[in-house]
Amino acid sequence: MDRRTDRRVVIVGGGVMGSATAWFLAHTHGIRAVVLERDMSYALASSARSACAIRQQFSTAINIRVSQESLLFYRAIGAQLAVAGEQPRIGLVEPGYLYLSATAEGATVLREQHALQQQHAVHTALLDPAALSARFPWLHVNDLELGSLGLSTPTSGEGWFDGYAAMQAFRRAAIEAGAQFVEANVVRFTQDDAHVRTIHDATGRVFEADEVVVTAGAWSGHVTHLLGAPLPVHARKRDVFAIEADVALPDAPLLIDPSGVWFRPEAEPGRFLCGAPPRVDADDVPLDRVDHSLFDEHIWPALAHRVPAFDALRVTSSWAGYYEMNDFDHNGLVGALPPFANVFVACGFSGHGLQQAPVVGRGLAELIATGRYQTLDLTPFRVTRIGEGRPLLERNVI
Ligand SMILES: Cc1cc2nc3c(=O)[nH]c(=O)nc-3n(C[C@H](O)[C@H](O)[C@H](O)COP(=O)(O)OP(=O)(O)OC[C@H]3O[C@@H](n4cnc5c(N)ncnc54)[C@H](O)[C@@H]3O)c2cc1C
Repeated sequence: MDRRTDRRVVIVGGGVMGSATAWFLAHTHGIRAVVLERDMSYALASSARSACAIRQQFSTAINIRVSQESLLFYRAIGAQLAVAGEQPRIGLVEPGYLYLSATAEGATVLREQHALQQQHAVHTALLDPAALSARFPWLHVNDLELGSLGLSTPTSGEGWFDGYAAMQAFRRAAIEAGAQFVEANVVRFTQDDAHVRTIHDATGRVFEADEVVVTAGAWSGHVTHLLGAPLPVHARKRDVFAIEADVALPDAPLLIDPSGVWFRPEAEPGRFLCGAPPRVDADDVPLDRVDHSLFDEHIWPALAHRVPAFDALRVTSSWAGYYEMNDFDHNGLVGALPPFANVFVACGFSGHGLQQAPVVGRGLAELIATGRYQTLDLTPFRVTRIGEGRPLLERNVI
């Protein structure tokens, strides 16, 4: 294992995953990576278009552990990533998540997940319709079976934050620690045997590498295709709508309705974000095509059914971004990329990558620098599970 700190590590993609990996490599291991990012404005990057929520209510142990440890990092991000005495602020709040089920089968799933979450000290409670109504009098509960709520006392460990600020904080701190960010659109690689040796950008520049890391978000399927080892990661558009309603919903958590519609409050009273999975989940739909009929025909009726006060509301803005969807099992792919001896990936997080970036970046940096995970073992995310036909299925993908 090469332990030199002057190894040339080249990272393709400078969003939150690439920036976090670059920071941990430089800060913890003294390795100054070169990060190739094709658009320094991050116009299309998922890290700039996210809903930026963090939760503990997952159905797999590894996702719970990763989010728990990432949360600890995000709570302390000001001190961790301060540059020249300036502490980044990401506005993390933790009002909890509320998953709702309207069927007996769905309630059984919530109970099973609750048991797993209890094993990992996740602070959640199962609430029947009467308990839901008592806690949230603004909620229509007649058709519900059960809810699973992240309890906010003392802290739920679930909420939301400014993901773009988190990405920029990693990026700035990585640069201060010695990483180099270069604007370059990677279009080709050369390799001999199992080693990738050079990376080529669209203008003909060549970057030599001892190790290559692919953190290209929704484009990771494309970049690994260029390497000849394509991963099943696809760009899937998700629409987000900002709404305004003359309503106060005290202590509102991020609510996931049985219809698949979600909403959460914003900082200003009467303002909320909401969304839902698309009705047709096609690849590479352009991001300027927000599906307003999805809001009119699906999201708004579901919101008004669940919270009657949403009967009158107005959309103030909307945007779309890409989930980096891993079609194999909707979970991150982290670690060595076979068949290569010097290529690593962190992609495919399928809508929960921002909250996992600190721990994934930390783990990937450990793997590259020392040959093994030193803190949390991320081998459940190994790429080889695809070839083994052993999915790590996450049921809670919003
Ligand atoms: C609407 C929406 C809501 C979301 N909600 C949440 C949420 O609530 N919680 C959560 O944790 N996550 C959420 N996510 C997911 C989260 O935003 C992503 O998992 C995360 O931002 C992925 O970070 P990344 O660095 O891998 O990808 P990105 O931020 O997309 O960065 C990848 C970078 O790679 C660059 N790149 C691509 N190809 C090349 C190339 N050939 N050469 C050079 N550079 C290249 C791109 O320009 C891009 O900047 C949401 C995403 C969306 C779109």
